[in-house]
Amino acid sequence: MTYDLIVTNGVVIPMNGGTIIRNGAVGISGNSITAVGPVDSIDAASATRVIDAKGRVIMPGFCNSHTHIASNVLLRGLLEDVRLFEWLDTMWKLKQNFDHETLYWASLCGDLEMLKSGITSFNEHFDAYDVEPQIEALREIPLRATLGYGFADRGLYAPRTEYSHRTMANFASIVGEHHRTNGDLLHIALSPHAVYSCGAEMWKEVRRLADDLGVIVHTHLSEGMQEVDYCLENYGLRPVQWLHSLGFLGPDVTAAHCSQLDDDDIAIMADTGTKIAHCPVCNAKLGSGTMPLRKVLAARVSVGLATDGPASHNASDLFQEMKFAGLIHKAAVDDVEFLTIEQLLELATCQGALAMHRPETGRLEVGARADLIVVNLDTAHSQPVYDERAALVYSTRADDVTHSIVDGRLLMDEREVLGVDEDRIRAKFHEAAHDLKNRSLR
Ligand SMILES: [Zn+2]
Repeated sequence: MTYDLIVTNGVVIPMNGGTIIRNGAVGISGNSITAVGPVDSIDAASATRVIDAKGRVIMPGFCNSHTHIASNVLLRGLLEDVRLFEWLDTMWKLKQNFDHETLYWASLCGDLEMLKSGITSFNEHFDAYDVEPQIEALREIPLRATLGYGFADRGLYAPRTEYSHRTMANFASIVGEHHRTNGDLLHIALSPHAVYSCGAEMWKEVRRLADDLGVIVHTHLSEGMQEVDYCLENYGLRPVQWLHSLGFLGPDVTAAHCSQLDDDDIAIMADTGTKIAHCPVCNAKLGSGTMPLRKVLAARVSVGLATDGPASHNASDLFQEMKFAGLIHKAAVDDVEFLTIEQLLELATCQGALAMHRPETGRLEVGARADLIVVNLDTAHSQPVYDERAALVYSTRADDVTHSIVDGRLLMDEREVLGVDEDRIRAKFHEAAHDLKNRSLR
């Protein structure tokens, strides 16, 4: 066997039930993992490039199952200490002034941040802005991404009605042009915004398009009591039950948040096979409630962790998300044995991949796509390291990621992102963001 790349001498944490290998290596050929095992079982002499991971962990890259990169990174830190609907209202003032170049630099800076934080796959919901700048940015920083075109036709999002209908009418050609491109790194999805911003006809049309075109759906659902109250007042049903009554839910849907679920909602999510992108940091910060995760997992609903956008989390960082999820759910059910370090790592890797419909990634196994990261544990804040998984969940930081490999390609080498000018990206983004704020909030 010959390899293009071998990552060796590290602690291999394969995930998906795989056994930890203390002195292990991963071999990569083309875009796939072709060997996982002890160091001496993989012939390093045959490799084009060898990365020494001594004192480090070799693990799958993180799968961020719900975010809004460009739009939300432009709004990071702009509005703090407010509830969801006031937050959406102010954000809209900036969103109305988005332009292609601003979104391009925001996308590129957001992709840079994710790559440097060990995120190799993400599921993007374009809530009210254009997808093309992100497609361009992903040519510079080729992460694995599913891009969901955002649709809405009422409330705050009413100005997106015309765009939404035009885009939905044209969706077959968008799929033809972009779906499964960049060597299958880039997928296209349908992203209706939420029950308070899309009417019944829009949900039915999205369901029809998803069935016809075979692309997945990525939406927001049951995020906070304001949404539940809106749905009860307007339709006499809770959000999950209303969408189910329209025939919308199914195994091709990823629903972000679900922070307000009753037992009937959970049964519907399980029966329909609807998947959940769980965003505990954002839900706590915006006062949207805490998803009943123990009940959801007991019902065997597919769940992945997600950061949501950088406006409501302030960091595209799944290390923070794992730690916070562990803390808030232990407190919520008053049981420290709930949500183990193994489970938290699964939610951020292999389970996250399934929740965002990218089963080809999220685990180190022969045949899986080669999306992996190297994490340095030889730091003051992680030592002495009795259990690498405990370090990764509760003490390691995003800056400890030293290497990121996506689809077999080394994108970050000892924290240097290859092929891009990081200083320029940050400077251009800073300038574009401040221009946008100055012309939007007078
Ligand atoms: Zn969101």
